[in-house]
Amino acid sequence: MAASGINRWMATRSTRSLRRLAVAGAAILLGAGPAHAEDVALTFDDVPLFGRWTSTADAARTTSLLLAGLVRHHFPATGFVNEIQLDASDRKARTALLSQWIAAGMDLGNHSYSHLSLTGTPVQAYIADVAKGETVTRALLVQKGRTPRWYRHPYLETGPTREIRDRFEAWLASHGYRTAPVTMENSDWMFAPAYDDAITRGDAKEARRIQQAYLNFTAQIVPWYRQAALDILGRRPAFVFLLHASRLNAASIDGLAAILKAQDLHAVSLDRAMADPAYRIADGYTGPEGEGWLERWSRTLHKDMPWGTLPKAPADIAAASARVAATPLKPPGPGRR
Ligand SMILES: [Zn+2]
Repeated sequence: MAASGINRWMATRSTRSLRRLAVAGAAILLGAGPAHAEDVALTFDDVPLFGRWTSTADAARTTSLLLAGLVRHHFPATGFVNEIQLDASDRKARTALLSQWIAAGMDLGNHSYSHLSLTGTPVQAYIADVAKGETVTRALLVQKGRTPRWYRHPYLETGPTREIRDRFEAWLASHGYRTAPVTMENSDWMFAPAYDDAITRGDAKEARRIQQAYLNFTAQIVPWYRQAALDILGRRPAFVFLLHASRLNAASIDGLAAILKAQDLHAVSLDRAMADPAYRIADGYTGPEGEGWLERWSRTLHKDMPWGTLPKAPADIAAASARVAATPLKPPGPGRR
């Protein structure tokens, strides 16, 4: 490092230290926690692949790219599996995608077998689906002396009535599971189908445009969640970030990492984030909708969510994704990978 470089680094460092001291002072006055980089646990739903399967080779490329990005940035992550995706003639190759997650040092959780809605499914059938959803994942984790410990509700639907909710939560607890809440998200599920469609059509320019819009939106909504937490809790907790195992995220890890860094967010394991006492606050919502946990806590604590400042995703991309989702799935053509 050249001398001027060191000076610049020192100057930046001391400015940062001063700023942190000032923030720490303010935090003490406000009775909030110590000021430090906030923790965020990255979670990826619909593993092995969010979106349409063109081929297992394609899913393997996406998995490798996503995991390589996470490893490169030293990001621990938890993948939430839908084992229905393994049920095909090439089951062994698909199961290998889950092994890749474990080999990369990541954790795996249960996201139900077939991505059911707890609001729209009788609870007994839902429980059977969740139990079926851990068969392969549990066997793979047990080989490493581990067990699945996290459950992520599809659509964040935790039960339309108190009775259903209590019944499912009792099942989860008796099977060693804890609910993985969500306190940060970026509507990646909405951008991903449009991105997949552009990639499938070979339109690299459109894919880049969608990716840029996705990262721009993420750069807006991450600080919105940080502010919302401050409004609801009076401090910023360790966040749990909901993402999906999509081609879009696999191609965007560097961009996402830059946003986390700019927001002073430090990636940690889900276990570590969940040690934050915020996750012991009672969930104030029982009903048919899927809700995030800041919103649930806002009910418990009688605080308002800052919906008025919520950034909006670009309407054209939302419309493009809706169009793609409405198109019937065609089987891959001959020779297509
Ligand atoms: Zn899902």
